[in-house]
Amino acid sequence: MATLQSNVPPGPLGTKWENHKFNSKLINPANKRKYRIIVVGAGLAGASAAATLAELGYEVLNFVFHDSPRRAHSVAAQGGINAAKNYQNDGDSVHRLFYDTIKGGDFRSREANVHRLAEVSVQIIDQCAAQGVPFAREYGGLLDNRSFGGAQVSRTFYARGQTGQQLLLGAYSALSRNVANGGIKLHTHSEMLDLVVVDGQAKGIVVRNLQTGELTRHAADAVVLATGGYGNVFNLSTYARGSNTTAIWRAYRRGACFGNPCFTQIHPTCIPVSGDYQSKLTLMSESLRNDGRIWAPAKVGDKRAPGDIPEAERDYFLERMYGAFGNLAPRDVASRAAKTVCDEGRGVGATGLGVYLDFAESIKRLGDEKIRERYGNLFAMYHEITAEDAYKAPMRIYPAVHYTMGGLWVDYNLMSNLPGLFVLGEANFSDHGANRLGASALMQGLSDGYFVLPATISNYLATQAPAKRPAVSHAVFSDVETDVRNRIQRYLGGKGKRTPGSYHKELGKIMWEYCGMARNRTGLEKALGLLGNLREEYRQNLHVSGEAGE
Ligand SMILES: Cc1cc2nc3c(=O)[nH]c(=O)nc-3n(C[C@H](O)[C@H](O)[C@H](O)COP(=O)(O)OP(=O)(O)OC[C@H]3O[C@@H](n4cnc5c(N)ncnc54)[C@H](O)[C@@H]3O)c2cc1C
Repeated sequence: MATLQSNVPPGPLGTKWENHKFNSKLINPANKRKYRIIVVGAGLAGASAAATLAELGYEVLNFVFHDSPRRAHSVAAQGGINAAKNYQNDGDSVHRLFYDTIKGGDFRSREANVHRLAEVSVQIIDQCAAQGVPFAREYGGLLDNRSFGGAQVSRTFYARGQTGQQLLLGAYSALSRNVANGGIKLHTHSEMLDLVVVDGQAKGIVVRNLQTGELTRHAADAVVLATGGYGNVFNLSTYARGSNTTAIWRAYRRGACFGNPCFTQIHPTCIPVSGDYQSKLTLMSESLRNDGRIWAPAKVGDKRAPGDIPEAERDYFLERMYGAFGNLAPRDVASRAAKTVCDEGRGVGATGLGVYLDFAESIKRLGDEKIRERYGNLFAMYHEITAEDAYKAPMRIYPAVHYTMGGLWVDYNLMSNLPGLFVLGEANFSDHGANRLGASALMQGLSDGYFVLPATISNYLATQAPAKRPAVSHAVFSDVETDVRNRIQRYLGGKGKRTPGSYHKELGKIMWEYCGMARNRTGLEKALGLLGNLREEYRQNLHVSGEAGE
């Protein structure tokens, strides 16, 4: 039985982090060079961690399955990143960001972590602006802000609808600087397929080269997983198709505990499902709710075009139900409300699974150009996918799987229950409780990578003698590699008829139907039965084409 110790430092919430940094162990510069740290992932969390650890003087090995760190799923983030800077003088503070995050997460998060996140948020913006991230600016030159769900203040920093991409380019430049100066050895096209645990401590990984099929072993003094979320278990989601959960799943199988696997975020504003052969869903950023009003026809079964439905026959249901937050109600609340409206038979579009996000009033007030300036790329994306012009008619939106609050369990130092295994960004369970507020994932990933891990990892490393990590010839490395080899052979040796993709699709349908936006005991029990049957059939009937060495 694993024992979980949160290791939250003593003292008042507001001073824990400062005190903890001071009380944390230090490693002298000459010794830092003797510690090797593996970082798996180079999204915002992994790239910022790898770069900062290398700047500190540690030897870093960085692995990504992508062909470049710039392709990490973080690139897709659109709307923005929160920080308690209070540039708007609208009442924001570290305490308010802490409070909103705790409340937004239904009081299920670890308070000490969330307070630290709110404190560090202000440093992140300075760090990124110094790197040259082109945040939107106001007329006077100050950084601009907009509002996101679950907040009544404007604290979201943004770079049009491409905030993730711009932040990732900043982290990538920091990473590249250290690749160039030899501090980081970057392994692209390299998928971690297992974790190596020696005497109860994480000491390495086994990796498959996706171009050659070659398996290699890598040893280190500590392993950091920054491998993203597991929302693709629902098949259709806003995640990149490649976002998989292999790394944290293999770590779980080697003894790392998983926290809150049931907490999945359903985002209210995605382009509705259009057909059976679709492979992913597209997010329309939450930032659109700053200027778009969400509504559905007031009457059941009203199939008129939106422009033919008079104001009096429209139901702006979020404004009606949640006066204080209106269209900026938190994501879980807004998603459930849209589902209720559609369940009542008031949904729009061919499937009836959609509601409107309408910009007519903002366009009238601000003009086309202002809206284009704020959200131009999102409107263009919507047009490309639906062939509809959202400047002229409202967007159709519906909730979709978007983010996983659950992940590997970590303590205050971001270390899992397996000593030496650290988990950052969306891959851990740490800061968002039952529901993440919009624009807080980028904040958490960069907080973990630029500021938290670099300060806390020394507490573990100081317990390990420098330059004494096990060699890859250690028997445990051989055993793990053999396990990986056997697993690959098992997949390839199957004589079945069905593709992995067809199982993924069926799995996703079961998950969405019974474990998605609404859950109850009967549905969950049904899902358990269906999943068991599916797994059995998968074992008997899977067909994977190709050879191990490809
Ligand atoms: C469409 C969209 C819009 C979003 N918009 C926002 C927003 O506006 N604001 C906000 O705060 N959040 C937003 N989010 C959420 C946010 O983008 C993610 O939560 C965050 O970027 C995750 O960062 P990460 O570094 O933890 O993981 P990722 O960016 O997913 O990176 C994972 C990395 O791990 C690597 N990897 C994974 N598995 C393995 C393996 N087995 N072996 C080797 N490498 C591996 C990948 O190559 C990649 O480098 C959005 C998400 C989506 C989908």
